[in-house]
Amino acid sequence: MSSPKKLYEMLKRLGYPENIAKAFGEVPREVFVHTDVEDVYSDRAILSYKGSGFYSTSSQPSLMAEFMKSVSLRDGMRVLEIGGGTGYNAAVISKIVGSNGTVVSVEYEEELFEVAKKNIEKLAINNVVFVRGDGYFGYPELAPYDVVLVTVGVDEIPNSWFDQLSDRGAIIAPMNLKSVQFYQPAMLFRKEGDFLVGIYKSATNFIKASEMLGNLSERLLKRLKRCENYSEKIQMEIASIPILEVVTSSVGRLGSEYFFVDEDCSAIYKGDEWFLCGECSRLKSAVKALKRARFPDLMSSRFGFNEKRDEFLVERLY
Ligand code: SAH
Repeated sequence: MSSPKKLYEMLKRLGYPENIAKAFGEVPREVFVHTDVEDVYSDRAILSYKGSGFYSTSSQPSLMAEFMKSVSLRDGMRVLEIGGGTGYNAAVISKIVGSNGTVVSVEYEEELFEVAKKNIEKLAINNVVFVRGDGYFGYPELAPYDVVLVTVGVDEIPNSWFDQLSDRGAIIAPMNLKSVQFYQPAMLFRKEGDFLVGIYKSATNFIKASEMLGNLSERLLKRLKRCENYSEKIQMEIASIPILEVVTSSVGRLGSEYFFVDEDCSAIYKGDEWFLCGECSRLKSAVKALKRARFPDLMSSRFGFNEKRDEFLVERLY
């Protein structure tokens, strides 16, 4: 059998909710991928477009179902997708949110944006809006969103997503962390008042984002200042570096060394200590929160930050 029904049955067998499995069963994936894969209804990521200097893949269906389940995707929701590609995932989401919901899908590559629009038109789907742009900025014009679903590896969770999220809204995003090799931890966040609170979900492998969403290290490096005098040092376990990366968006890596950059601060991490140069109030505040939780690792904790990223929350789960 090679029809969307195959994905429906597979996802049901794996225990996914009916509304999610059903949506995969309603979208013809062959409209969105044009490679000679003998079976477009296998549970695999498939190359969907090859441009000059970029490409796009239609993500693995069961992983997308996992992302959708983690944010409790349902009828009537407003969803911001980052990394639209040729539009397959946006089409699936559109079936779940229905005519009372909206999908806004941001894609950086102009060619892909055009292809995605045509594909969606072909299927006469009318609750998806494609946007050409850097997903870093989200799309404030149609905010607020109940869910931000990210299908590209990102270096950070930009404040624009925080701003454009409704209260209790959720973000699911695979993150390119400098301290995690070989995979991108997918992180699930929820907006709780002034805080965004997250946990680790799963190990994933996506295309790495281009533009602002994918050049955090370069931006931080440009701001890194040479230090004449390290005035202070504070101890921190190396296991907590991934959490520090996520909550501060200010950790870079040069070779095997980590550094932290802020307006009033530059710091480097050696052994198990940060050597501080300048005020470093945000770094101190984050390390204090980590210390209170006895320096957990990414997978064993719940962590959060306020919009200015000068207040942090860290709790051990195990
Ligand atoms: N959701 C898509 C899969 C996308 S693959 C689908 O269902 O087919 C990741 C996509 O993210 C690629 O198309 C890539 O061009 C896009 N991308 C990369 N960097 C981006 C950025 N900064 N902003 C928006 N999209 C980006």
